[in-house]
Amino acid sequence: MRRDGGNHISDPVCLAGSTTIVISPKNELVLPCYHLGIKTFPIKNNLFELYQAQEVQELIALEGRLPACEGCTINCYMQPSFAVEINKYWWQALPSTIKYNREKGTWKRLLFKS
Ligand code: SF4
Repeated sequence: MRRDGGNHISDPVCLAGSTTIVISPKNELVLPCYHLGIKTFPIKNNLFELYQAQEVQELIALEGRLPACEGCTINCYMQPSFAVEINKYWWQALPSTIKYNREKGTWKRLLFKS
């Protein structure tokens, strides 16, 4: 991805807003990602409702498309982005995706879903 010049706003691979929920130490939802942090929203103990709000969804839709997103290679957002959409980076990211999910135990959610 770095050799390709990172994320390109004309054809973004970043799915930071839709794959990752960033909560600040002040209990705010940060969008579209922590590094850019265009806007924060107080969660007020209602993350579910907040996440559905139109303004939040509009910011999520701008993931990877903002001017500052051109050339971005922030790995902590690209890794989850590549895990959910099959593109040229999906296979390259697969070993680290498996390692992450194995070590973090996220696969357990598939077994103990309520
Ligand atoms: S491309 Fe980079 S700066 Fe833009 S939303 Fe994704 S992670 Fe954030």
